[in-house]
Amino acid sequence: MISNYPVDQALTPRPGPESGTPHQTPRWRTLIFRGLTRACPACGRRKLFGKSLTIVEDCPRCGLHFERIEGHWIGAIGMNTIFSFFMIMVTLIVGLVSTFPDFPVTELVIFSTGVAILHPILFQPTAQTLWSAVDMLMRKLEPHEVDWRLVTRKPMKRNQTKKHALSD
Ligand SMILES: [Zn+2]
Repeated sequence: MISNYPVDQALTPRPGPESGTPHQTPRWRTLIFRGLTRACPACGRRKLFGKSLTIVEDCPRCGLHFERIEGHWIGAIGMNTIFSFFMIMVTLIVGLVSTFPDFPVTELVIFSTGVAILHPILFQPTAQTLWSAVDMLMRKLEPHEVDWRLVTRKPMKRNQTKKHALSD
């Protein structure tokens, strides 16, 4: 089934730097899953954010420099904007439909304003890892970008994640 994905068909395994590890960017499902769960798209490492919800410059495990090109984060801002507008729209539609025909205008305005303020802040970390994953779908990892021995193509299972967390 894996060979059905065009992303994988475009990949031609190349020899690794020293270890003989092939240079294979993770599959699209793995990339998107990691992006949505705030993990490094390349290796699956978590805990990439400080208290200020700012992403680290480089992945502590595989060494990926997240800002791959200048202006990289514009995509994350765009993605966050689109998701935030979508959430405001959902909030308003649910609010209007559930209270029809007596709309509590003040409450709806306050609630949707809260969503408009909080959503972009809280979603920003996910937008950053998700955008990095999307970027990696469009521009494969270059051989020099990561330590290929730590780049895994499949998401780690729960017990594997715990082992990796302990070994970090
Ligand atoms: Zn990584």
